[in-house]
Amino acid sequence: MMNDYRIKTTDKMKEVMANYFKGLESGKKKIAWCTSVGPAELLRSFGFEVYFPENHGALLGATRTAMDHIPEAVKCGYSGHVCSYTTSDIGSFLKNDTPLKKHYGMDGVPKPDIIVYNTNQCREVEDWFTFYADHFCCPIEGIQPPRHLDEVTEDEVELVVKQFKRIIPACELVSGQNFNLESLKRVLRLSKEATLLWQKVLKTSTAINAPISFFDGTIHMGPIVVLRGTQEAKDYYTELLAELEDNVANNRGFLPQATTRIFWEGMPIWGKLRMLSDLFTDNNAAVVASTYCSSWVFDKFDENDPWNSMARAYTEIFINRSEKAKMEMLKKWFKEYSIDGIVYHDSKTCFNNSNAKFGMPQRLSKETGVPSLVVEGDLCDLRFFSEGQSITKIETFLEQLEDNKMALERK
Ligand code: SF4
Repeated sequence: MMNDYRIKTTDKMKEVMANYFKGLESGKKKIAWCTSVGPAELLRSFGFEVYFPENHGALLGATRTAMDHIPEAVKCGYSGHVCSYTTSDIGSFLKNDTPLKKHYGMDGVPKPDIIVYNTNQCREVEDWFTFYADHFCCPIEGIQPPRHLDEVTEDEVELVVKQFKRIIPACELVSGQNFNLESLKRVLRLSKEATLLWQKVLKTSTAINAPISFFDGTIHMGPIVVLRGTQEAKDYYTELLAELEDNVANNRGFLPQATTRIFWEGMPIWGKLRMLSDLFTDNNAAVVASTYCSSWVFDKFDENDPWNSMARAYTEIFINRSEKAKMEMLKKWFKEYSIDGIVYHDSKTCFNNSNAKFGMPQRLSKETGVPSLVVEGDLCDLRFFSEGQSITKIETFLEQLEDNKMALERK
C-alpha cells in the first residue's frame, strides 16, 4: 500500500531558513562565524548574526557540488582525505561558487567580523576557520575543552568556563557592546526551550509508528543548528512538534508497515539521503534515531547558571566523549527507541564522528545483542561511497534482522 505521508511543517522550515539567510545579508548586524556546536548563545547575546560554515558544508554535500570544489582546496595544500566539509567549503569559497546564490539569492557567504570555534567536535575546525581568519584578517577565538572523557567533572567545567569568558573582550570590541548577563540569560533560555522541543520532536519516533525518520531529521534540524537562541527556532519546533504529536495520536507514521527499527550512527551521507531513505523504507526498515540529530540536544542549559551549564552542555556532547560514555548513551537510545539494528557510517574524511574504527560495533553488539553493520562512505565526498556495494550490504543486513526477529517470535 502506498504511503503518502508527508511532514507539512517542512514548508515552514524552508521559509524559516530563507529568512535566516536573508538576515545574514541584510547588513543590519555584525556577523560572527561559529562552529555548529560552538558558543552561539554567547555570540547572539552581543547582537551578532551567527553564520555556520558546517551548515554550508552540508549544503555542498546535499547539492552534490562538494566534489567540484574539493580539488581547489587540495591545490592549496589541504589533503583530500581531511574533513570534506572543510575542503569543499574552502574550495567553494576560492571559486566564489556556492549554492547559497541559487537557493537563497545571496551574493556569497557573509563576510565575518569575528570567527569563533569550539574543538569539542574536532581539531579540524580550528584549521578550517583559521584559513578564513587569515583571509579576512579578522579576529579568531577558540575554545579547546578536554576531550574523550568518561565523565565531565566540575574541574573540566571550570576550565571551559574560563575559556568561554576569555572570548568576551574580543566580542565586546567587535560588536561595540558591553557584555550583558541578562542578554545572555535571555538567549540561553530561548536556546534551551528550542533544544527541549527538538528533543521532544526526536522522541516522537519512539512511537511504534514513528512520525519522523533520521533522514527527515537531518532536514528539520536546520533551525536548531543555525537559529538556536532565537524566538524563530522556538516557534518552529513548537509547530513541528504539534504536527508530529498529532500524527502519533492518530497513528500516522512514515512507514506504518515497518518490520525493523534502525539506529544510524555517524555523519549523514548528504548527497545520498534520498537514495538511502528509499532503500531502508523499501526494505520495511524504519531509521528512527541517530547520534547525529541528537547532537543538538543541550538539555543541561540553565539560564540561572549560564556559564557552568553552557560549559557542561557543550563539553558533554556525544562526539566529545570516551568510548565508554558513548556506549552508555547508545545503550540508552537502543532501549528508548526499541532498536533492532545499528548502521555505522564509517566516514572516510571525518575520523571524529566515525565510531567503527576501533571495534566498538563488535563490543556494543556483544553487550546489547543489537546487530550492527558498517557502511563506508563520506559526508560530502561521494568518491568514497560505493552505492552498489552499500545497497547489497544494507539489504543483506536488513534481511538478516528480519529473519532473526521472525525466529525469535517463533520461539
Ligand atoms: S566533526 Fe567531522 S565533519 Fe564535522 S567539522 Fe569536524 S572533521 Fe569535519
